[in-house]
Amino acid sequence: MSNSDPLVLIVSGPSGSGKSTLVQKILELPDTMLSVSCTTRPPRKTESDRKWYNFISEADFQGMVKRGEFLEYAQVFGKNWYGTPRKALDIAVAAKKDLVLEIDVQGALQAKQKLSGSVAIFVMPPSCADLERRIRERGQDSEDEIQRRLERARQEMLNYSSYDFAIINDDLDRAGKEVQAIALGSRCRVARKEERIREILKSFGG
Ligand code: ADP
Ligand code: 5GP
Repeated sequence: MSNSDPLVLIVSGPSGSGKSTLVQKILELPDTMLSVSCTTRPPRKTESDRKWYNFISEADFQGMVKRGEFLEYAQVFGKNWYGTPRKALDIAVAAKKDLVLEIDVQGALQAKQKLSGSVAIFVMPPSCADLERRIRERGQDSEDEIQRRLERARQEMLNYSSYDFAIINDDLDRAGKEVQAIALGSRCRVARKEERIREILKSFGG
């Protein structure tokens, strides 16, 4: 990790576990920004281009894959493609902000491997029954889709040990404080502070 690398916070976990909700909590902190992913999924009515996603065609997506323009990418639910453009890192460096990635488990494992200084946070529902209730209450998915999401969640939960932190998202207030604490604490890693520490040492004549 070099001093010019942004702090990358990877927030991942099963669909419905509360990733989006907790990412919003991190983004309440100053000097944080969301990485805008590319996807081949069509936009929902509430989504405008370039805020949540760059909505692109499958041909454009595959072109970006070929040119190595993604930090990570994955086909989610065996349907649509999603990827984090490498240029999100440059944007965060230029803006001097910490970069938050809200991505699926396959992508999180890739990103963690490529960015050794990144911090991977696993968001877990308190139980399978709670996850099912939340997905149903969100009212976004068909019965078929709900069953697929639950089966996939079962498999994704087995990857917990690849992450640095686990948030059990039962009480939202506490879970929100925990993700903010992880973000703030990660900023204080010695490796991230070296430049500043050296300056301070200089003032001691060191
Ligand atoms: P994800 O981004 O992982 O798919 P969301 O953040 O969309 O999950 O959360 C799924 C649903 O669960 C949403 O309706 C959200 O309001 C709700 N939710 C999130 N966290 C909690 C919590 N701690 N307690 C109860 N409901 C929650
Ligand atoms: P949705 O279609 O509901 O917005 O997202 C579906 C899933 O794709 C979610 O789990 C979300 O976190 C994940 N996702 C969003 N962007 C990316 C990305 O850039 N890469 C990967 N691997 N997953 C993503």
